[in-house]
Amino acid sequence: MATIKAIEGRSVHQIQSGQVIVDLCSVVKELVENSLDAGATSIEVRFKNNGLESIEVQDNGQGIAPENFETVALKHHTSKLSTYDDLETLQTFGFRGEALSSLCALSEFHVITARAQDAPKASRLDFEVSGKLKHTSIVAGQKGTLVVVGNLFHNLPVRRRELEKTIKREYGKVLGLLHAYACISVNVKFTVSNQMAKGRKAIVFSTKSNPSTRENIANVFGAKTLTALVPLNLTLEMQPTNRPSQKWTARKGKRIEEVLVSGHVSRPVFGEGRQTPDRQMFFVNSRPCGLPQIAKVFNEVYKTFNVTQSPFVFADFRMDTSAYDVNVSPDKRTILLHDQNALLETLKESLTQLFESTDQTVPQSQPI
Ligand code: ADP
Ligand code: MG
Repeated sequence: MATIKAIEGRSVHQIQSGQVIVDLCSVVKELVENSLDAGATSIEVRFKNNGLESIEVQDNGQGIAPENFETVALKHHTSKLSTYDDLETLQTFGFRGEALSSLCALSEFHVITARAQDAPKASRLDFEVSGKLKHTSIVAGQKGTLVVVGNLFHNLPVRRRELEKTIKREYGKVLGLLHAYACISVNVKFTVSNQMAKGRKAIVFSTKSNPSTRENIANVFGAKTLTALVPLNLTLEMQPTNRPSQKWTARKGKRIEEVLVSGHVSRPVFGEGRQTPDRQMFFVNSRPCGLPQIAKVFNEVYKTFNVTQSPFVFADFRMDTSAYDVNVSPDKRTILLHDQNALLETLKESLTQLFESTDQTVPQSQPI
């Protein structure tokens, strides 16, 4: 039998990094969330060759303080969480301190950052594969942070080939994710561009610094989309269930009692939905996430009113932060709702009522 021995440190780092950064979506998600956590009001996402060549995220947030340069890309170093208990009251997107360190291991990575008091002088930070700071230099730069991720997965040949093969689909998924961030983030201006090998840089979509999600949706999907939508404004009161799930007793978290759902959904009128469910965005406390069971309820209820189409859905579920767990997978895309079945039941009833009471006539136009 072969001897059992420890995996060498650098390989462990690569293996773990590959679980945090699994694809193009994870890169963009982590970087955009960092920019939002840094209080940015303007976020520019620039792709080259659909992201295959590079992904750049420039924000105008608070920047990184020089005393943090050494630790910023070290694994499990974060300015957002220090103990496990902080997770229950977490207000930021990030908390694991793994994204930047993982990107060091998986791409040609550097950061240019400046705080308000340092601009227009900025610092360029280059890192070792391990995330250790290798080199800093002074360059010109605006207030905020630019993160550059080149040649993603260049040192994992199998993943790189897979990325090359699936890049069109991946890029499509990334745009879906960016739509979600751009629509939910009020007062944040998003600009997304892509530059193909020989082409010019093309703006893919942009939002203004809008005070409402309605205006964001109009910027992203076109003002016409709004005429097909009704506001979602539901208060879901959960009936207590007999068998409390062990999860929340164990974590002494509260069970969900009340959930507020706000957003926008298509009228249940033929012609107002879409043939494909490609415009459905779900959030928990403004955090974009996949909620397949909840999506299913929206689609099923909608189908009882409009058989052939799927609704546009933009739905933000507001609930106590202790009623769910974001710490399920390293990429933080999975959210575990502690009392999901009760939520699904109540949602189904409320949605049915909403659609039943919705005006079935179609207005010609609506002000934004
Ligand atoms: P986390 O977001 O979980 O803290 P990251 O690896 O994504 O971990 O980032 C590490 C740290 O780097 C953050 O805690 C934050 O202090 C800093 N940071 C990352 N991106 C930015 C940014 N765009 N602007 C300012 N600070 C940033
Ligand atoms: Mg982060």
